[in-house]
Amino acid sequence: MKRIFITGAGGQLGLALIELIKDNHEYMLYLTDSRPYTDSNIKKLDITDEDAVQSEISDFHPDIIINCAAMTAVDLCETEQEMAYNINAIGPKYIAKVANDIGAKLIHISTDYVYDGQANSPYTEESITNPTSVYGRTKLAGDNFVMEFCPKSFILNTSGVYGEGKNFVRTMLKLADEERKIRVVSDQTVTPTSARELARAIIFLMETDSYGKYHATCEGSTNWYEFALMIFELSGRKAMVEAINTSEYPTPAKRPAYSVLDNKKLRESHGYYMKGWKEALEEYIIEKGKML
Ligand code: NDP
Repeated sequence: MKRIFITGAGGQLGLALIELIKDNHEYMLYLTDSRPYTDSNIKKLDITDEDAVQSEISDFHPDIIINCAAMTAVDLCETEQEMAYNINAIGPKYIAKVANDIGAKLIHISTDYVYDGQANSPYTEESITNPTSVYGRTKLAGDNFVMEFCPKSFILNTSGVYGEGKNFVRTMLKLADEERKIRVVSDQTVTPTSARELARAIIFLMETDSYGKYHATCEGSTNWYEFALMIFELSGRKAMVEAINTSEYPTPAKRPAYSVLDNKKLRESHGYYMKGWKEALEEYIIEKGKML
């Protein structure tokens, strides 16, 4: 039986991982998040607390650590830069050090925002990083710490994650149900990725020893406006939705105009394919439809 330690377990990715792993008797889970969950067995572990990270992880002595914890509020990172750096960079460093000390594999999650968005064809794992936001810079710093301190690590860059929790899909459905006029940017090209598809890729990779950086998004690409239209179509909602440009929707953090990631390494080294973004969205809406 493999022992798996998850941080940020109450977030979108953490919950998707738990759902896929919890009934698998090959794995024993130890779940942590920024706060304890009274209705589940998620315990409190703040990844910026070095002593706590050291002792909780060493006590459980996992074979695999999956770091799902992050400060993902991209705009808030611009004003709370120290907090963003502590959570997105220093926390992963502490985890990487302990992982290395106890010989555990570490799976760490990164983002498409490490790229500047100036490309016009998909970024590969070899593409030059050049983040344009505090979120992107702090995540990249975390990736570098993980690679420096834990050679037995996987870094998975993903994008546009939706699962259980606050995300674009749920926001769109809520606005449609409130019969609000919705304005969505159509000049940012992205690949929405379901938390479950990402979790599946993690579970696949963690059983290998092919350490390194991987892109892990659903296949294909779209823009946020087209994505919104597909959400309404698949969920049978009628919505008043208007396409706008990024300049009409200013945000504190600059988003990449083009952040499509090519899962080249997953495909070429492992023959592993993630679902297309539409197929994954359909799966999500059919399954969660009643709750959304
Ligand atoms: P969520 O925001 O849903 O989950 C992150 C979890 O980390 C939350 O439960 C959060 O708790 C927790 N957390 C925050 N600070 C700490 C801390 N100091 N110690 C311990 N836990 C903490 O994120 P996702 O599941 O969507 O993201 C998973 C990974 O994917 C992250 O690394 C993220 O950067 C990356 N990613 C996400 C994308 C997205 O669109 N969501 C896109 C690209 C990459 P709390 O809620 O209390 O803050």
